[in-house]
Amino acid sequence: MTTGNSAAMTVSVAGVAPPDLSSTVCQELDAKNKDERKKAIKELKPQADRKSQRAHTQAKGAGMTFSSAKVSVGIGGGSSIQGVATGCSSGKAREALSGSTVKGGTSEMQTGKEKVLCEQANYTHSGGGSGSHGEAKVLNEMSQMAKDAGGSLQGGSVVFNVDWRYSRPDGGVCESGMPCRLCYRMMCAAQKCGIKISLCDASGKPQPFDPDDECDKEKAMDPSDDPYLKLDKRMGEDPLLGRGVL
Ligand SMILES: [Zn+2]
Repeated sequence: MTTGNSAAMTVSVAGVAPPDLSSTVCQELDAKNKDERKKAIKELKPQADRKSQRAHTQAKGAGMTFSSAKVSVGIGGGSSIQGVATGCSSGKAREALSGSTVKGGTSEMQTGKEKVLCEQANYTHSGGGSGSHGEAKVLNEMSQMAKDAGGSLQGGSVVFNVDWRYSRPDGGVCESGMPCRLCYRMMCAAQKCGIKISLCDASGKPQPFDPDDECDKEKAMDPSDDPYLKLDKRMGEDPLLGRGVL
């Protein structure tokens, strides 16, 4: 795979492939995240308006997520969505990148007014903005593509490599490959469409998202048995520092 504009999702008559759980896929997705971030930093810098300047600061430091995904998901009727897509949490950065990251479905999807995924999932994003997180934009886009093709998401696999940058109280910037709790819940819902999700871990290998079928326990919020924290552990991340300080 080459990084940059060539990577995209398309609807095809190909069947869904078993998930590619090699380290190579995580490396490809990592390269795409870094490439898009680098381009965003470059393209946002010369723009003078305040929103672009703020996005530039976030792209360089903390507060902007790039989530790239390798997708092979059925949509019914023998068709499927195949390819690689990147979702960026910033609308400003997406504008600056001229189409190499996904739009992320409709604004109604992003604001939780329109269902995404599939009927069985019965899922809308919560209204607080998580519907435009990087991972959400990829799944929104897939939902829209399925709808436009007269189908719905069903079966197959998605491997995500999340590049989330956040500040520490002491001012350092950490990087994490974890989805936030709201994106975690969205991924739980996506499983109800038969989609197998994996996430690239701290050592650059895909980790099954929910191997013990424990999503429901997250709602109970018992910290000793919280599947979100268990995922964090399986991902090889530090609970505070993620994959580490940049
Ligand atoms: Zn999120």
